[in-house]
Amino acid sequence: MNIDGKLIAKNLRDHLAVEVAELKVSHGVQPSLTVIIVGDDPASHVYVKNKIKQTQEIGMISNEIVLPIDTTEEHLLNELEKLNSDNNVHGILVQLPLPKHLNENAVISAINPEKDVDGFHAVNSGKLFNGEEGGLVPCTPQGCILLAKEHLGTDLSGLHAVVIGRSNIVGKPVAMLLLQENCTITIAHSKTKNLAEVCKQADILVAAVGIANFVKADWVKDGATIIDVGINRITSETGVTKLVGDVDYDEVVSKCSAITPVPGGVGPMTIACLLSNTLIAAKKVAYN
Ligand code: NAD
Repeated sequence: MNIDGKLIAKNLRDHLAVEVAELKVSHGVQPSLTVIIVGDDPASHVYVKNKIKQTQEIGMISNEIVLPIDTTEEHLLNELEKLNSDNNVHGILVQLPLPKHLNENAVISAINPEKDVDGFHAVNSGKLFNGEEGGLVPCTPQGCILLAKEHLGTDLSGLHAVVIGRSNIVGKPVAMLLLQENCTITIAHSKTKNLAEVCKQADILVAAVGIANFVKADWVKDGATIIDVGINRITSETGVTKLVGDVDYDEVVSKCSAITPVPGGVGPMTIACLLSNTLIAAKKVAYN
């Protein structure tokens, strides 16, 4: 069966919209998110447009700062400083990837961790690693856990989770979250030997690789839950372009007990979790 990320994300956004309205009434605070985008990468502009639309739909304030591709790091850091000290801005997101001449780590480090709604600042990843409450958790990994729980229930204790991929954006944080859920974790990556055998042990298999249809049916244990994070654009022999995941859906769907489709699985959860982080950041300000 499919785990319907589109529906689950919509339910989450509906729930957030109620909380946003309540916060406005109770504390006079309307959560606000500012997205900075540097350059003119078309895919990034589409993502940002979606983020803005969904932010506004649930009653939050959305601001966008568009900077030219030749923006200097100094200028970008100045913009971040202004947003950091603006009490009306609760969430700041710098759309990645940045143009090559800008140092992503330096830019992410310049965001106030309390406003770092992407959850990539070292303070937030450190809190996640330490299992400390109160940090902002990266959005896609958060979405993966919500989707797994939707199928498996809230208690994931003792399940063996295999995560393919060790990026700071997906692989590592999703593994940390699964560990917090008391799963036994294996992190596999490009140097892992016998990957198929490793994957076959998984009760929960998270694929975050970036290779179209990479995971095959004979890598999957009967009844496993599959969370497919991959977003890959492929063109068929007839010239039709479509999005596919890192898992060979057609092969795997009959082998597993549940799978997140691509599109319509993890993707919609990412923005919903971004909005959830923005609400958390705004509540912190409102309640202080
Ligand atoms: P990345 O390129 O930073 O990391 C890929 C990881 O895959 C690496 O850690 C690498 O070790 C591993 N890998 C590469 N080749 C491998 C191989 N042959 N065998 C085993 N492991 C291998 O990518 P990322 O940013 O983590 O993203 C992964 C995928 O998830 C991409 O398709 C990306 O588009 C997608 N993604 C989706 C969302 C979403 O919202 N759904 C968000 C972020 C990323």
